[in-house]
Amino acid sequence: MSMDNPLEDARRLFDEHRYEEALRLLRIPLRREGHVTTAGELASTILWMRGEDLPRALIDDPAFDSLFAECEVCRAEGVSAIWIPPPYDRERPNAIISTINTPGGRCPACGAIRCRMHLRVEGVTLVCPNDGKAIDVCFEPNGRFPHRIPPPRGSVRFVVVAREGPLVPTVDYARTLLGRVAPELLQELSAGGLIACRVEDPTDQEAILFYVTAIVLREYGRNALRGCTASLHVVADSESEVAAVIVVFYRPAGLRWWLAKMFGR
Ligand SMILES: [Zn+2]
Ligand SMILES: [Zn+2]
Repeated sequence: MSMDNPLEDARRLFDEHRYEEALRLLRIPLRREGHVTTAGELASTILWMRGEDLPRALIDDPAFDSLFAECEVCRAEGVSAIWIPPPYDRERPNAIISTINTPGGRCPACGAIRCRMHLRVEGVTLVCPNDGKAIDVCFEPNGRFPHRIPPPRGSVRFVVVAREGPLVPTVDYARTLLGRVAPELLQELSAGGLIACRVEDPTDQEAILFYVTAIVLREYGRNALRGCTASLHVVADSESEVAAVIVVFYRPAGLRWWLAKMFGR
């Protein structure tokens, strides 16, 4: 097996019905270039055919996020309703694909992407409740709400887990959630670098970053974040069905970077 062409290897594994191994390999091209059409199509096909038999941890990998469709109404209510659209046959673009058994679809008129529960059934078709148009399968999925966040991209200084809702979460809660949604991040994190707090509105990223920065400075002193950069990820906490925001503060880039910047021209 050559690691230079994981797509080719995945194709071969697919032909040998080794679907889980093929899917594991497809994460490489999908991560490398974001959305790679052929790798995405093969991964979609495997997830569509075999999703139920595959390990949950593999399905939750962020490499596959863009392949899923997710109901907009459910997402707005904080509920996860996701599905893999049936594989699209490029050879026969006009082939009629049954939407009867699909978990959801997209309205060709208003573009709404919804699950069955938020569509209307008329006879043998699913129709959009906005305009009564028959829905089609969702060839261009909207991507799912992430269940995992990507591995850290630098040296981690602090992580703040901010959960939606009235209750202040504990650090144990934060650790458990990170173990599920960001295992690589948890490994990187030194003891004492983890903070848990609550937030009103997980979608207001600017306010969250401001609030979370203030908490870190209060806990660790006003120089604690000097030169640090931050990244913010909203994740679904599937256990308690609320959203949580994970803010990662990275240490300043090292001396070498500064030297390169100053003398590198
Ligand atoms: Zn829905
Ligand atoms: Zn519509």
